[in-house]
Amino acid sequence: MNTALNLVNVTLEYPDGGGTLKALDDVNLKVGSGEFLTLVGPSGSGKSSLLAVAATLVRPTAGLVLVDGIDAGGLSENGRTTLRRDKIGIIFQQPNLLPSLTALEQLVIGEHLRGKPAREAARRAAALLDLVGLAPAAGKRPHQLSGGQRQRVNIARALMGDPAVLLVDEPTAALDQERSEAIVRLLRRVTDEFSVGTVMVTHDTGFVPLTDMVAGMLDGRLSAAQPVSPALASGQAPQP
Ligand code: ADP
Ligand code: MG
Repeated sequence: MNTALNLVNVTLEYPDGGGTLKALDDVNLKVGSGEFLTLVGPSGSGKSSLLAVAATLVRPTAGLVLVDGIDAGGLSENGRTTLRRDKIGIIFQQPNLLPSLTALEQLVIGEHLRGKPAREAARRAAALLDLVGLAPAAGKRPHQLSGGQRQRVNIARALMGDPAVLLVDEPTAALDQERSEAIVRLLRRVTDEFSVGTVMVTHDTGFVPLTDMVAGMLDGRLSAAQPVSPALASGQAPQP
């Protein structure tokens, strides 16, 4: 299996008064293409820091970040921006959609940065909105969409660049149980269909059986990722 994301001995320190705070402390993590990892841990344990470093938004103090085999540390700022655009899909809790744009436009707007012809971008956007179950809402603006629908637009948008890695930070925090489960099932599906390596931070351990691996953070340290047992998965998560 191709390794989509590889963090090797990653440490991230922030200045803290006179000393330093280790937001990430010698973290090692491998996520394969088509693999779905759940990341759990208490508030302040470093989960969002891990995603920010994996997203190449924050440079680690030490260690390697490899995205689809590319060493982000060896790249310039521009190189990192390109890597992010071409290889990484980012989905945060709040979709951050532009209020004046339709669902379709939210997906298309970034595509001129990738140098894609407008018609091709529009076609891909329409196909992705269909995939996430939003074809009928393609012309709607954020205020006309439910929270779950907005998160679906967010997911579709993250897939526009055909990323190798999906980084997802508490995607269901603002949703009720039923909508939350639908979102995690959708992430499962896109992980499989697009062979993307997905890391999802969540407080909801009830969704672990829908994923392949689970790892825990505590005080910046990451436990070794454990496979989710198939028995657990079939017992707790009936297939749709
Ligand atoms: P989590 O997402 O698990 O709640 P974070 O990754 O946001 O944890 O934070 C981990 C630790 O790093 C916390 O102690 C937090 O206060 C600290 N931290 C996060 N971002 C910064 C920053 N930009 N500057 C200083 N400290 C930070
Ligand atoms: Mg966080």
